[in-house]
Amino acid sequence: MKIYIDGEYYDKADARVPVFDHGLLYGDGVFEGIRIYRGKVFKLREHVERLYRSAKALLLDIPMRTGEMENAVLETVKRNEKQDGYIRLIVTRGVGALGIDPVSCERATVIIIVADIQLYPEEYYRSGISIVTASSRRVPSDCLDPRIKSLNYLNNILAKIEARQAGCLEAVMLNREGFVSECTGDNIFIAKGGGLFTPAAYHGALDGITRQTVMQVAESLGIPAHETALTRYDLYTADECFMTGTGAEIIPVIKIDGRKVGDGVPGPVTERLRKGFGELIMA
Ligand code: PMP
Repeated sequence: MKIYIDGEYYDKADARVPVFDHGLLYGDGVFEGIRIYRGKVFKLREHVERLYRSAKALLLDIPMRTGEMENAVLETVKRNEKQDGYIRLIVTRGVGALGIDPVSCERATVIIIVADIQLYPEEYYRSGISIVTASSRRVPSDCLDPRIKSLNYLNNILAKIEARQAGCLEAVMLNREGFVSECTGDNIFIAKGGGLFTPAAYHGALDGITRQTVMQVAESLGIPAHETALTRYDLYTADECFMTGTGAEIIPVIKIDGRKVGDGVPGPVTERLRKGFGELIMA
C-alpha cells in the first residue's frame, strides 16, 4: 500500500500525521470516499468538486488545483495497482497551534489512501437489510450544513452505535423537524406507486453522488424520481426502500423499526435500479 501525503508516497507503516494537525485535534477537514471499478475511478470529477465545495464552505484553502488533485488521485491508484477498490481522499486544516483558530495552520494537508472496499455482507444485497431510526438527530444545516462532507462525523457515529445496539447495520436519521434526512453513511430512497422519493439536501442529507447517479438511472428507465419531505410513516408504508452510497452502492431495506417494508423482500424497482447501476459502473 502506497499512501500519498502532500506529494510524497509512504508505506502504510510510515504514513503518519502530526499530532498538531487540526484534522486530528478538531475534526477540521473534509474528505471523500471514491470507488475504483475495473481500474477506472468512478465519478472522480464529481467527488473532487464536492471536496472543493466542502472546503470552500469551511474556508479551507486546498493548496492545489482540482486538476492536480485528480492527477494525484489517479497516480496514487496507479501506484497501488488496484483494479477494484476504494479511495479515501482527505484534506485536513494542517498543522497549527493547540487552539482552534485555523489561522495558525499554514497549509492544508492532503492525504490519499487506496484500499480494499468493505461492502455490506453479500447476502444483504439479495435479502435486504433491516434498519432502525436513531434518536440522534442530524446536525441542522444552520449549525453545520450536512452537504459539507467534513471530518466531523460524531452524530452519525452515535447513530451508528444505536444501529448496532439494535442489532442493525444502519440507522436512519431524522432532522430537527422530524423529517427523514439520510442514514449514517448512506442516502435513503423509497419507491411508492411507481415513483422514487428521497429527501432533499435541505432536509439534512449529503448530496450523495450515488444518490445523483441513481436518480439519473431512474430517469433513463422512465421511473420518475422526486426530492421530497419524508416522515417515518412514509418509510413504513413505502412499497420499497433502499439506501445508496459509494461503498454500499444500492442496498435494499426490508424492515424499518420492526415494520416490514412492502412484502419484506427486495422489490422490483430496487432490482431494476441495481441492474441499471451495475451496467453503468461496468461501462
Ligand atoms: N450520507 C452520508 C452521511 C455519507 O457519509 C455518505 C457517503 N458515505 C453518503 C450519504 C452517500 O454519499 P455518496 O453516494 O456520495 O457516497
